[in-house]
Amino acid sequence: MRVHSYIGDLSQSSCPINSHQGTLMLVLLCLSLAFSAVLGDSCTEHVHATFGKVGKCIKKSCCEYATYISSLCPGDDTACCFKRDTCGSLSAGCPHIVSRASWGARSPRSTSYMPGPAKYVFIHHGESGSCSTQSACSAIVRSYQNYHMDTHGWSDIGYSFLVGEDGNAYEGRGWDKIGAHTQGYNSVGLGFCMIGSFDNHVPNAAALNTVKNLIACGVGKGKIKSTYTLRGHRDMNQTSCPGTALYNLIKTWPHY
Ligand SMILES: [Zn+2]
Repeated sequence: MRVHSYIGDLSQSSCPINSHQGTLMLVLLCLSLAFSAVLGDSCTEHVHATFGKVGKCIKKSCCEYATYISSLCPGDDTACCFKRDTCGSLSAGCPHIVSRASWGARSPRSTSYMPGPAKYVFIHHGESGSCSTQSACSAIVRSYQNYHMDTHGWSDIGYSFLVGEDGNAYEGRGWDKIGAHTQGYNSVGLGFCMIGSFDNHVPNAAALNTVKNLIACGVGKGKIKSTYTLRGHRDMNQTSCPGTALYNLIKTWPHY
């Protein structure tokens, strides 16, 4: 439909059409415009045979796993992408991460590194009071670290990252180091702890948004496999963590 109206509009324009040559030029121009209109439209209409969904024209180098078709979008550097725009999600998706130095972490006693990207993301809660400012959340994170190092005798705070209701993420062991959060699965998964107790209520929108962004950020950085499995701590170990309300919520999230 759009193609026909395109041609109609052009043929009524002020292009010179009184010579044979002019007519030929006009037809070629119309054909090329019509063709590019078809191509431009077809990316968002093209259902990919493998991925089963339509694409989006983005910068070629930003398309996750190079899952694109070049010919469906105009321009050499643009392609019809059928997976994530990693450039877009990296800037939009990574939450503010409060460094260990900023929250006042103790040094780890020892460190071991993840053998590869995490296959699992585990959600925990800290079973403590909640916090809504960076200074209050930092104090709780320090208390978790003291408990893990002094009472459990672990080498460091157990979690990979922590998330407060101030909307910040707090660096625990980080992306690359094996944590102590989910027994039996620490070397194949990252542990994200929601600061607070979530048996009867879920974390606020800021905290939920941040933990989702943290997962997307980890996938974008290649620290979490794009095919990761999301689980609550209680799915793997005998525990009530991450609290029933939060557990019921994460069961509705992608990858659970
Ligand atoms: Zn837990």
